[in-house]
Amino acid sequence: MEVAPKSPDPVAPGAAPGPSHIRLTSHASGHGALPIHWAAASAAERGPVVGTTSKRSHRNVIGTHSGSYSVYRALAVASGALSPHHKADLTNTSPTDVIGPYPQWSEPGRIVSMDPWGARIAEVFAAELAAGYDIRPTIAVTKAHVILPEVIEALQSGRLKADGKFLTANGAAMVTKAAIEPVWYLPEVARRFGCTEADLRRVLFEETGGMYPELVTRSDLEVFLPPIGGQTIYIFGNPRDLANPAVELTARVHDECNGSDVFGSDICTCRPYLTHAIEECIQGAQRGGVGLVAYSRKEGRALGEVTKFLVYNARKRQLGGDTADQYFARTECVAGVQDMRFQELMPDTLNWLGITKIHRLVSMSNMKFDAITKAGIEIVERVNLPDALIPDDARVEMDAKMAAGYFTPGAVPDADELKKAKGRQLDT
Ligand SMILES: [Zn+2]
Repeated sequence: MEVAPKSPDPVAPGAAPGPSHIRLTSHASGHGALPIHWAAASAAERGPVVGTTSKRSHRNVIGTHSGSYSVYRALAVASGALSPHHKADLTNTSPTDVIGPYPQWSEPGRIVSMDPWGARIAEVFAAELAAGYDIRPTIAVTKAHVILPEVIEALQSGRLKADGKFLTANGAAMVTKAAIEPVWYLPEVARRFGCTEADLRRVLFEETGGMYPELVTRSDLEVFLPPIGGQTIYIFGNPRDLANPAVELTARVHDECNGSDVFGSDICTCRPYLTHAIEECIQGAQRGGVGLVAYSRKEGRALGEVTKFLVYNARKRQLGGDTADQYFARTECVAGVQDMRFQELMPDTLNWLGITKIHRLVSMSNMKFDAITKAGIEIVERVNLPDALIPDDARVEMDAKMAAGYFTPGAVPDADELKKAKGRQLDT
């Protein structure tokens, strides 16, 4: 498969790649690539994930870093703005809080879609870095103050109290947050989805338009850095308390909904859920517990925002108006499925944090509940969204979800109830 065999790195440092040849990485390099022993007991035994494109003989994975942003990196290189040989200077970038290692990190099948050592590579792979391997963190951990109007409102109405430790007088919640890029160990990802690794590789290759030939040509490479969004976690309280089942943990696992989360669109309950969970997390931390919000980049049930907006139109234009009994059907008409979030991989982050028990899960989703408990994590209590926080136009979604099995402490709407149009018209 090698096209330009003269030099392993044909592009000179600082230069944009020339037009004369394409650098294929789908050949067996054999020189210098370090082995990965997934779920090994220590970082040294596990080995680093090397997704660099500049020293291709060192690569031991399929794909490259930064998830979907790898395409922007390619644009930056193509335009000459970025040297393809740029190596990150990791001075002072180390995590503000050390996460793990926890027993789950080396239990087979527990963590299959992220690198548990991804935040600590500068420390645990110092020798390999010094030897010239371009190893990049796939996780970064930092501190932040988050200020939300709903939290300020809760403070003003007396539902929350400032303590200067978890919540300041002006409504800023003090958090530790971590950004996590996906790192998939293909044999175990296949197992989670009940297919063979060969089928998973072939379908990933075909459905990305042949983007990663190594999926089908390099069965020796078992780790894939997929071009998708990852997760961001927000921790309220001491991150190390997450792994202590004696400390009350309030948690929400939230899937991205830009329209509601950021822009306040009222057709769904996403932002109310998120801000309600943050309020619960702050209260939990102030009770001596710890809070966690894990935010997954899975826009529109991982169908994407274009599909989501098409479905909104289809719902509101259908005969009889926007009704809960047609809620999932309209999605399926456009997308072919109701949901592509596949919560199977979501609990990996919880296992990375050492969590074994969630005392209060702020979610009504039976899919999230099932995935978390199946991952070996106990859930004591589920906390639903108070009715007062559900926007009028989101009543359709809420009724449809409750009828489909979402957790509710109240009555599940019956067939007649689901047929009542509750959604707003498009032009009102
Ligand atoms: Zn939403």
